[in-house]
Amino acid sequence: MSDVDVVVIGSGAAGLSAALAARQAGAERVLVAESEAIVGGSSRLSGGLMMGAGTRYQEAAGVVDTWQELFHDYMTLNQWQVEPAVVERLTQRAGASVEWLGDLGVDFYEQLVFGGDETKPRVHCPIGRGQAVVDVLYRHCRESGVDVALGQRVDRLLVDDGAVVGVAVGGDEITADSVVIATGGFGASDDKRRDLFPSVFDTGWSYYIGADGSRGDALDFTRAVDAQVTGHDRGLRLLHTDFDRMYEAYLPGWLVLVNREGRRFCNETAPYGIMDGLLKAQGDVAFAIFDHTALIDATALGVARYKQSIPGSTKKQSPHWNMEIIDMMLAEGKVHRSDSFDGLADAIDVPVDHLRATVDRVNELVALQEDVDYLKDPTFLEPISTAPFYAVEVRPATCCFTACGLRITRDAEVLDEAGRPVRGLYAAGEVTGGVIGPRYVGSGNSYGNCVTMGRVAGQSAAAHAR
Ligand SMILES: Cc1cc2nc3c(=O)[nH]c(=O)nc-3n(C[C@H](O)[C@H](O)[C@H](O)COP(=O)(O)OP(=O)(O)OC[C@H]3O[C@@H](n4cnc5c(N)ncnc54)[C@H](O)[C@@H]3O)c2cc1C
Repeated sequence: MSDVDVVVIGSGAAGLSAALAARQAGAERVLVAESEAIVGGSSRLSGGLMMGAGTRYQEAAGVVDTWQELFHDYMTLNQWQVEPAVVERLTQRAGASVEWLGDLGVDFYEQLVFGGDETKPRVHCPIGRGQAVVDVLYRHCRESGVDVALGQRVDRLLVDDGAVVGVAVGGDEITADSVVIATGGFGASDDKRRDLFPSVFDTGWSYYIGADGSRGDALDFTRAVDAQVTGHDRGLRLLHTDFDRMYEAYLPGWLVLVNREGRRFCNETAPYGIMDGLLKAQGDVAFAIFDHTALIDATALGVARYKQSIPGSTKKQSPHWNMEIIDMMLAEGKVHRSDSFDGLADAIDVPVDHLRATVDRVNELVALQEDVDYLKDPTFLEPISTAPFYAVEVRPATCCFTACGLRITRDAEVLDEAGRPVRGLYAAGEVTGGVIGPRYVGSGNSYGNCVTMGRVAGQSAAAHAR
């Protein structure tokens, strides 16, 4: 007889959801092994915004929505370059998972928001962000008898005749009927970021904003069962300057982006999942252009002008796009300033006539009070006419999370290189690949995946243990 029915590796949203769901599905002895001294991984640092369709929260807000519509949006945005059956299960159950959290005691704001470029507002915003979700899940795990062991970094799977039969932390072995891997992503490992998410690493300014435990351990210890890894070079990249490592999820809408050709190429207020791909199409470099008046106005306003408005987030000054920081970075050579467009174009090495034409066009759009080119909300249109003029290079350098990982079935079984389920082994959350695709459907895509597929993994693990 095994020491426990189910071992879950990792105590983020995916792991805690899996552990609780396993208990609810009848597994009696459930153990969560967490490498760090604190519960929650990136999930507790997260906004906790969560995608889900057809929920009672949407109904209360008058939003008519179905999982089929979410599935359609998700697959279309990702051009079907994801695992369809897994995404079907995710989208079918994401709404119920939001409600499950609500039933457990997570409170959500009444206001729902659009995550990415979907047709309906489907992002559910928990009061107290990701930490509140982790707190509720952890409390229910403890109350239902799940053991959570901190400081236990699993480094080996116990394998018997091809089946996973437990885990090991150094010399300590624990046998289990089922093992669920929920170890999160690999953003904290420079080596893995370079190998598995090169488009963020190769920006040169790459840095990670998640938890320290996201080292991608599972990608190493699942080699023992020949686990298949999918979703190379996927994750979420946020635009960043090279000023510092302070994360700013959105670009203030009053900035104008131009590419290396000095041409505008996007609506600067596009959702970050879309912006990531737009930057990729421009060689991962752009320049934010603005004039002195826009900078003075933005600074005087004292509150960042983002298009996205997340309920509960504190309204505050942009950490980068204000006079004090711009002046400081000017001194460090990270901001270019000139009294003429010729000088500015020269400084950032873009064709002068292109930059001039772009600026003329922006000023026309301001006069028109309509962005007939890129459809940006006119309230964000600002003239570029008062010298000095500024240019700041931006790159999609902030690694928010990673999406290359273990390939799973819709029942969260881990597949081996041949495509067969590894007996006794399940995975959910950021550690998996093929679920989150080339276009991040969010905010809310990752947390929705973690909780929903975490529950699926817990249920499958409990059924296998029985
Ligand atoms: C600042 C920030 C904001 C975000 N906001 C959102 C948002 O609003 N909505 C959204 O959808 N997504 C958001 N994301 C992404 C999302 O929060 C994460 O992708 C998600 O929470 C990951 O959950 P997880 O359970 O898979 O992993 P984690 O929460 O990272 O948990 C994994 C756990 O496994 C542990 N672990 C790792 N290796 C081992 C090992 N060998 N042995 C034992 N334990 C191990 C880790 O220490 C960690 O505690 C955000 C991310 C960040 C960083």
